[in-house]
Amino acid sequence: MFKFKQLIFASHNQGKITEIRELLAPYGIEILSAADVNIPDVEETGKTFEENAYIKALAAARIHNIPCLADDSGLCVDAIGGRPGVYTARYAPNRDFNLGMDRLLKELNETNPQNRAAHFSCVLVVAYPNGSYRSFEGRVDGNIATKKTGHAGFGYDPIFIPTGYSRSFAEFNSDEKNKISHRGRALQKFIDYIAENEKD
Ligand code: IMP
Repeated sequence: MFKFKQLIFASHNQGKITEIRELLAPYGIEILSAADVNIPDVEETGKTFEENAYIKALAAARIHNIPCLADDSGLCVDAIGGRPGVYTARYAPNRDFNLGMDRLLKELNETNPQNRAAHFSCVLVVAYPNGSYRSFEGRVDGNIATKKTGHAGFGYDPIFIPTGYSRSFAEFNSDEKNKISHRGRALQKFIDYIAENEKD
């Protein structure tokens, strides 16, 4: 049984912070973010999403002595062995995702343009100051489009078409995307865990 009233969310992404605050409000859990507490800058040296999320979460949990949540995510493309995966942010030259998408489309064209299957993965980790943790994974399957479409969202959204749809994530509004996205699904698992553990 865990019961805590404060949780650090180790993220600078205001969109993610607002979303998680809203989802956890019914449980009386206050979310502290980078605007409220110092979030240490750590190198993401892990080989998996889980390791990277754990590294980030544990660093902040130890400094502040309260549980900390962190996430790591990326795009995995089947035809190129699941890359860029944990290196998704770094795959984009100068973190320019427009260039990152160009690079991915080119690489796919040069290897196996027929196989466009891909998925986004997100792992959320809640780490405790003593080093213990729980992780929650979300995934959304889809295909890499042949060109960019749409202007909403961020990162590689304009070239990712989720399975069952004929438009890219950059053509979804945020509510629609949150319902099926890798991050939305991981977050829902975490919320279910909180709901279960907050029962008396
Ligand atoms: P991080 O988890 O914030 O380190 O994100 C890793 C990278 O994956 C981001 O920089 C994005 O480029 C990409 N990424 C993660 N989630 C999404 C998404 O929902 N849409 C588009 N790109 C994403």
